Order: sequence, then structure tokens, then C-alpha cells
Amino acid sequence: HSDMAMYLAKQSGRNTYRFHNHTLSAAASERLALETRLRRALVAGEFLLHYQPLIDAYSGEPAGVEALVRWQPPGEALVLPGRFIPIAEDTGLIVPLGEWVLRTACAQGRAWLDAGMPKRVMAVNLSVRQFQSGNLVELVGQVLADTGLPPECLELELTESMFMDHAEQAIATLHALKALGVRLAIDDFGTGYSSLAYLKRFPIDKLKIDQSFVRGLADDANDREIAATVIAMARVFKLEVLAEGVETAEQLAILRQHGCDFYQGYYFHRPAPMPQIEAWLAGPHAPV
Ligand code: C2E
Ligand code: MG
Ligand code: MG
Ligand code: MG
Repeated sequence: HSDMAMYLAKQSGRNTYRFHNHTLSAAASERLALETRLRRALVAGEFLLHYQPLIDAYSGEPAGVEALVRWQPPGEALVLPGRFIPIAEDTGLIVPLGEWVLRTACAQGRAWLDAGMPKRVMAVNLSVRQFQSGNLVELVGQVLADTGLPPECLELELTESMFMDHAEQAIATLHALKALGVRLAIDDFGTGYSSLAYLKRFPIDKLKIDQSFVRGLADDANDREIAATVIAMARVFKLEVLAEGVETAEQLAILRQHGCDFYQGYYFHRPAPMPQIEAWLAGPHAPV
């Protein structure tokens, strides 16, 4: 940064200036420290995955799980992705971190099959940086080959922001991913700018209704309308539809009324470490 360069130049000169305004703010230096810690954390193996069940609305059975990354600095509290994913995205660290998540989740999915569990979906979040990295398709193909996870068990969660620029290239990437046999979902649906035309052209399997609309289902008529519209739209385009962030029986009842296919949320299960999820997946599961 030129201000910083000038600051350093003046510092080393004889007429040292006092650049109060140009020293790193507390927030910026904290961010820089966090960035360094994140790089080391990846090397030191301090990231881990929690898994949250995705529930089939008709059978009540778990249809799969979503892998959600966490950071466990030794001797400190567990850190949620909201604290570090944005920084990992800004710095590019998301690319190696995302590859680690993909590999770990796919290996876990394969291990569940090897243990005799039924075929279920393993959903993995992708960031814009990974989507635009240029070798995503190759990476996904390689990870599937390395882990032996059947492609139809992997569901990649994309966001609408990935399609905003370079739509043609995005469509080509989506088709190449579909050609591998994986499933594609749009995460946080309704918060971005997808047009109906996109939905028609994109080879998408599932819409995940953003939890901000689910939260207000019981007392906000607008949220109810939005959720109902997304569910109806999914039906028109023959897409599966899942509601994120289901916390109450009341929300569930409204979603069921509208014919939502899948649910995910604290009402069913919080994201949890593998042993807990494995025990829960083994059942039994009450119909919902
Ligand atoms: P997301 O993909 O939309 O994941 C759902 C988030 O909602 C998770 O937050 C989950 O714990 C939370 N959640 C689930 N059910 C409920 C509920 O009933 N109520 C409420 N209030 N929250 C619920 P989490 O784990 O903190 O992850 C936040 C976001 O971080 C994710 O949102 C996703 O965008 C991102 N993220 C997580 N893991 C990864 C990853 O491996 N790679 C990338 N690129 N992003 C990730
Ligand atoms: Mg997600
Ligand atoms: Mg989401
Ligand atoms: Mg979300």
C-alpha cells in the first residue's frame, strides 16, 4: 500500500513524520493477525467438520447431511465460519481450505457407505473463489476418484452471487460439474439476484430457501409469501426444495402445508461432530 510505503520511507529517513492516520487501525491489525493464524491453522490441522442432517419431508428419514467447517484453536473456544470464511475468501486461503473440506467430507461419505449405511447426500459449500478458480471441475473429479464416493452422493452448494458475472462461463462450469454426476444446489436462495431465466437454463437439482425467510414464517406474511413462491417455483422447474433454519413446529407445519420436500434446522438437529451424527443417523427416526 502506498501510504504504508511512504510511512516506512519517512520512518527510515531523517525527517521522520508522525503519521498517526496511516498506522494500521486496531481492526486492521487484528485482521492481519487472524489471517496469519488461519494459514497456520490449516497446516496444523485445526479445522474440523460438523454435520447437520437434511430431512426428507415425506419419510422423516435423513436424506443426507451438510458439512460445515469449524476452527478449533488449541485451548480456545470453537470458532464458527462467520468469523473466518470472509477472511479466507479475501486472502485466497479459501481455495486450499475448501479443498480440505471437500476431501474430508467426501472421505466421510465414503466411510459411511463402507460401514453399511444407506446412500445419502453429502452437501459441501463452495465459495465464489473456488467456483471461479478455473480447476474446480478437475478438483471435484479428482476428489471423487480418490475417495471413491459415488458422484450422486455429493451435492455442491452454490450461491446466486456465483452467476452474477460471467454467466456464460458459470453455466459451462455447472454443466461440466453435472457431467461428473454430482448434484447441484443453490444455497441461501432468495437473498441474491437469480432470475427465472437463470433457473430455467441452469442444471440445478435443488433450491435451499434461505433461513431469513423461514425465521419469519409464523408471523410475517411477506416471508410466508416468499417461501410459498419459492416452493411453487421449484415445482414448476422440477427442482427439489429445502427449507433452511427450521426451528419450530409452527414453521414446519407451514412448510409442510406448502409442500416443501426437505427440511434442515435446529428443530431436527444442530450441526454436530461426526460421532454424534453417526449415532443419530443410525435411527430410529419419527415421521415429521
Ligand atoms: P449455510 O451454508 O447457509 O449453512 C447453514 C448455516 O445455518 C450454518 O451456520 C448452520 O449451523 C446454521 N443453521 C442450521 N440450522 C439452523 C437453525 O435452525 N437456526 C439457525 N439460526 N441457524 C441454523 P454455520 O455453520 O455457522 O455456517 C455459516 C455459513 O458459513 C454457511 O451458511 C456457509 O455459507 C459458510 N460455510 C460453512 N462451512 C463452509 C465451507 O466448508 N466452505 C464455505 N465456502 N463456506 C462454508
Ligand atoms: Mg450451505
Ligand atoms: Mg444456506
Ligand atoms: Mg445461510
